[in-house]
Amino acid sequence: MKLADDLYVYPWTQATANNCNTFLVGGPAPVMIDPGHARLYKHVELGLASDHQGEIPKLVVITHCHPDHLEAAFALQKAGARLAMLAAEMEYLEGEGRRLAASLGMSLPEFQPDILLGEGELVVGPESFQVLHTPGHSPGHLCLYWPRHKALFAGDLVFAQGVGRVDFPGGDGAALKQSLQRVAKLDLEWVLTGHGPVLKGKASIQRNFQIIEQLYFGML
Ligand SMILES: [Zn+2]
Repeated sequence: MKLADDLYVYPWTQATANNCNTFLVGGPAPVMIDPGHARLYKHVELGLASDHQGEIPKLVVITHCHPDHLEAAFALQKAGARLAMLAAEMEYLEGEGRRLAASLGMSLPEFQPDILLGEGELVVGPESFQVLHTPGHSPGHLCLYWPRHKALFAGDLVFAQGVGRVDFPGGDGAALKQSLQRVAKLDLEWVLTGHGPVLKGKASIQRNFQIIEQLYFGML
C-alpha cells in the first residue's frame, strides 16, 4: 500500500499472530525495513508484486533482532538482498543475547548480516537516511530517519499511544526514555511504527509524544 512517493507499507492487521509492519522505500535501489516472520511474509510478497513488480529489495534493514521483525530477511538475503543491522545489536546477540533469550524460551536465529551499521548517514542509490542508535527495547535497536519525507522508521521504539516493551532480554527502561526524547526532537511528518497504526502529521506526532510522556515516563 502506497503512503507517499516511493514509500510503501505492508501493515500487519491480523489478530491471530504477532508480526510487524513492513515498509519499502521504492525507486531504483529499493530498501525494505523489517520484513517480519518468515511464515507470515506472503502478504508482503503479494504487496510487492503489485507495488514493485515483485522485485526483491537491494537492502533489507532490520531495526532489531526479534524474530517478528527479522526472520523473513534470511530468504531475501539468499535471493540477493543485502542484510543490514546495527553493529551494537549483533554484538549483543553474539555476546549474551542469544543465550539469555534461549534461557527464556525465546529462540533467536543464527545469521550473518552483510552490513553492520553505526550511527550516521546511510546512502542507498539516490536515497539518504540517518541511522540512529535507539536502545531500550533491545540494546542495538535502530531507527532510520528519511529526511526526504521527514519519516522515522521506528521499529519497536514508539507506537500510537505506546512504547516498546523493555521486559525482554537486554531491555532498558531508562535507555528507552532517552531514545524517545531523542527522536521526539526530530522534524517528523511520519512515524512508521513496527506495530499498529502509523502516525502521520507533525501535530498528531507531537501529541503522541506528549501522551507517551504522561503515560509512560514515570514507569521507565
Ligand atoms: Zn521487538
